[in-house]
Amino acid sequence: MPPVFRFAPSPNGYLHLGHALSALLNAAAARAAGGRLLLRIEDIDLARCRPGFEAAIYEDLAWLGIGWEQPVRRQSEHFDDYRAALARLEAMGLVYPSFESRAGIAALVEERERQGPWPRDPDGAPLYPGTARDIAPDERSRRIAAGESYALRLDMAKAVRRAGALAWDEAGRGTVAADPSAWGDVILARKDTPASYHLAVTVDDALGVTDVVRGEDLFPSTSVHRLLQSLLGLPAPRYRHHRLILGSDGRKLSKSTAATALRQLRAEGLTPADIRRMVGLD
Ligand code: GLU
Repeated sequence: MPPVFRFAPSPNGYLHLGHALSALLNAAAARAAGGRLLLRIEDIDLARCRPGFEAAIYEDLAWLGIGWEQPVRRQSEHFDDYRAALARLEAMGLVYPSFESRAGIAALVEERERQGPWPRDPDGAPLYPGTARDIAPDERSRRIAAGESYALRLDMAKAVRRAGALAWDEAGRGTVAADPSAWGDVILARKDTPASYHLAVTVDDALGVTDVVRGEDLFPSTSVHRLLQSLLGLPAPRYRHHRLILGSDGRKLSKSTAATALRQLRAEGLTPADIRRMVGLD
């Protein structure tokens, strides 16, 4: 079976040089291995994604000389798949609703921090304090029925106990031990959003993707994906996390900076060969 790669951008802004590196590495790896390249549009967050950005993804990739298989998988068309995966985790007793707003959580964490440092996740956000874990089942149902907003969270300690020790295969590094506990009780879905990034990416990569090539910023998230794969009985792809392209300020590129957007560079007259050089290929 030929290996299957995927490039999975979110249409919430224009692709930048970092996306170009990721897409070019995926295309080159697929070509070298006689494999396939899939394109997935990660548009779960309907409030931030725009059809215009999706059209621009196709245009920018084609301009770079990248070809992908049809059909493109658009996550917003597969909410039922994510709901089904969530239902399986719920049936295992691993999911609970939390009702605090973001500001409410920040206030809770601030209170805990008065007693000493509070743990942060690998992205630097404070871990959810787990306050809603102990809400009684009837009260949960009552609050949901009353229309309160909520996030559905994974009971991380319980999930890790069930899954046991996990690892993944990382190109150039061999076997890496997963550490999902570093993320605390991650969000799997929200009242109006049937899946978080972690849940959707896990379900979608299990549809035949054998090789995930993506930026180093997602390396820590792989621990959560590995855990969800194990709980849901899904296969684990091989992973390769590549270097990031940094801006002149030394920070990871942002979709909101026009200067490094591919379409801006194209409008300035740069060619695909220039882009390859700028991202350190060739
Ligand atoms: N949609 C994610 C992004 O644009 C990438 C997800 C992934 O490659 O796993 O950053």
